[in-house]
Amino acid sequence: MWRNNDSAKIRGYHAHIYYKRSTRSVAEHLRRLIPRRFKVELGRWREEPVGPHPQSMYQVKFGVREFSRIVPWLMLNRDGLSILVHPETGDDYQDHAFNALWLGDKLKLRLEIFGRLRARRRPSGRKDARKHRDRS
Ligand code: ZN
Repeated sequence: MWRNNDSAKIRGYHAHIYYKRSTRSVAEHLRRLIPRRFKVELGRWREEPVGPHPQSMYQVKFGVREFSRIVPWLMLNRDGLSILVHPETGDDYQDHAFNALWLGDKLKLRLEIFGRLRARRRPSGRKDARKHRDRS
């Protein structure tokens, strides 16, 4: 069912810039240009898949007001790279799975990672209590 989601809850955005060995030089070029033109925070190079990201990438973090400047620029200058742009609303799963937009080819994200993260965060007091009882 449709329900209204106030875009005011978007605190900022990430652009994840994906590359392969053969396109790393394009990613390097963008990485040099982006901070000269836009107000961003650059994440470090992630050569290995990390979190939901199935391919090498780096993150570009920017504020709500920068969106209308940087996203059109990326549209015109991504030079074949896939880029995931997602908002930060406080729900990582929703933001990656449903609230994102893609420039270029869409990659299959490893969304199952979010279930695992949630499971890890769940307090495990009950299990510990049982272990404790066994010991005594
Ligand atoms: Zn992100």
